[in-house]
Amino acid sequence: MFMDKFFDKYLEEEDFINLSAEKLKKYGFEHNNTIAGVCLCRDEICQSVLLKIKNLWGDFFNFSSFAGIYSSGEIGAKVFISHAPDGEEKRVVFYVFTHIGLDEKGSIGICKRKGIEKSTACGALILFLNEILNFDKREKEENPELIFIKQKLRKEISNRTPDLMELTKIALHVSCNEIERTMENLVKSDKIVYALVSGIQVHYLDKNYILPMASFVVKDNKKIDLR
Ligand SMILES: [Zn+2]
Repeated sequence: MFMDKFFDKYLEEEDFINLSAEKLKKYGFEHNNTIAGVCLCRDEICQSVLLKIKNLWGDFFNFSSFAGIYSSGEIGAKVFISHAPDGEEKRVVFYVFTHIGLDEKGSIGICKRKGIEKSTACGALILFLNEILNFDKREKEENPELIFIKQKLRKEISNRTPDLMELTKIALHVSCNEIERTMENLVKSDKIVYALVSGIQVHYLDKNYILPMASFVVKDNKKIDLR
């Protein structure tokens, strides 16, 4: 398949979510004792994965933001954890995604939408790139969420200008780090076991695929790689 030219490993969304649940089961995460939280881009073409997560884990907590960068802070994580089923410990799993388009000609960042033959994704990351490259001369966006996201990304890239694929990976890394840092504080005071499962959604033709990225479980201050 065409995707093979670009990516070593990718899965259909449903397979990715099923596989993650299988792996998490070995560490005691089950439908009845776990709540899932999801952090992905607000973009409508990303939302298909939610149904798969809901089918496996039940109702989920939604952390979504522009570009899918975690921006809910400690308070968001605390509320989420407090909604986890009662038990010996609170069990939560974060699903974290950023996303990118790919068309049949191999153009990165290009995707289809309902009624739109040629569109782009991720719009928020492309906006950010255009700002760095100074293509975008419009008045700067004052939306607080976008300001937060751009600050985080600028810190990470310092003076470089990554391409869109690299920026998509950086954005995911920023998001996962943000969650890990937030959780570091919270697991100190409460009995919490958490997992983070991350990937990049690729919109190719009319379907979404996921490139698996860092995934781990944190239990008793130990980080266990899920891959
Ligand atoms: Zn997006």
